[in-house]
Amino acid sequence: MLTRRRFLGYGGAGILAVSSGCRPQHLDWVVNQAEASPEINLSLADKAKLKTQKNLLLGYPVNMNTLSDDFFAWRRQLLDAGINTFAYNNVGNPFKDSAIPNNTHDFEQELILRFGKLYGFPPGNTWGFLSHSGTDSNMHGMYMGRTLLKGRTGVLPKAYFTKEAHYSIQILRDLLGLETVLIETLPDGGMDPNDLKQKLADNPSHPALVIATIGTTFKGAIDQVDRIQEALKGYTSHLHLDAALFGGYLPFTAHAGEVSYQSQSNPALARYDSIAVSCHKFFGFPSPAGLFITTKSHFDEFNELFSQIHNPEYIHHVPGTITCSRDAVKPAEFYFFSTPSAMDKLAEDARSMLQNAVYLMEQMQSHFSYLQPTRVNDRSNTIFFRKPSDRIVEKYSLATMHLDINHQKQEYAHVVVMPHADRKVLTEFMTDLDKDSMPLS
Ligand SMILES: *Cc1c(COP(=O)(O)O)cnc(C)c1O
Repeated sequence: MLTRRRFLGYGGAGILAVSSGCRPQHLDWVVNQAEASPEINLSLADKAKLKTQKNLLLGYPVNMNTLSDDFFAWRRQLLDAGINTFAYNNVGNPFKDSAIPNNTHDFEQELILRFGKLYGFPPGNTWGFLSHSGTDSNMHGMYMGRTLLKGRTGVLPKAYFTKEAHYSIQILRDLLGLETVLIETLPDGGMDPNDLKQKLADNPSHPALVIATIGTTFKGAIDQVDRIQEALKGYTSHLHLDAALFGGYLPFTAHAGEVSYQSQSNPALARYDSIAVSCHKFFGFPSPAGLFITTKSHFDEFNELFSQIHNPEYIHHVPGTITCSRDAVKPAEFYFFSTPSAMDKLAEDARSMLQNAVYLMEQMQSHFSYLQPTRVNDRSNTIFFRKPSDRIVEKYSLATMHLDINHQKQEYAHVVVMPHADRKVLTEFMTDLDKDSMPLS
């Protein structure tokens, strides 16, 4: 094994050794030095440095905490069982028997049922799978909506969303060949339900595929699902929830109702049709993955139509997913996050993360009000403000964007307070802001 100490010690020396043709003794590199290019050694040394600086990443919604020993023990258990040591593949519907034995459909099914329960899906009426990413989950939600609506009406739907929706929605809308109906936003960046009503009335001959965002990418706005549902009354529609970031933590807070499938006041009422959540954002799963959850009744209706689109004979059943081969390692690993103790930890992370967001907002309001810090609602972990100097943008990897606020187009940046952004990191950030003498442009 390559220890960190050995690694740093050999980083530069290894290159010299290779180029001078003499190899150091007793090397136990996993990749033999003679076979590794000097660039690889350098790049790995940089990666090792990153481990000590990763928590300074504040501009993108990624939980940079290193996972617990328990997670790595679980990984070890999976490895010992052979998972990830030879070809595994979750092709097909995780709720159906697979034609091949080398899958982890059992873990995938169980974790979907557990998360389905968390999002208030009715027991016995839950379907889903672990996708490759939030975008992949959005793709399945939009494709399912398109298929169901076309099946019910014979007409392709139009796609309704706002300019604050994630850019993946624009790409997927294009991929699915749907016409866009752009809905106006409220001052906080959320979808304007009255404009939705108006636009639905303007487009009476097409069903509506509505994509609502719970936690918009730059501003952290929440589209009001209940008011959208109200506007949709009497129309043939499919409402997909893009809850890539907020969908991870809201279920563990007093605001769980925002992402709940069932209405809290009337459990017989469905608030939406499908939901997408990224696993690598709040949960901190170490590589991209996504939850896609819908009802079993929606899935069955979809599957009937889907089976007419392609010939399922080869894998013995209709796969239920657009992508054929699917990762089997991720569901087995992500299963860890569905356990009661992991969920307790997530609840703790959600609580402290929102407390830290409140703290950052208060501190910025009292010390940097000239940056116009804004947090658009009390469920958001995102604070945006006038763009500080490039030095700060670079050090904290801040995302920047031009926003038109009060008829003035200015450049803004945001901090997404993720679980690794503790008081210490936030204090360092504000100390830097304090030293930042660059006047606003
Ligand atoms: C991050 C994000 C996505 C894309 O998710 P990936 O997992 O990165 O593909 C989609 N929508 C919203 C609102 C997001 O924040």
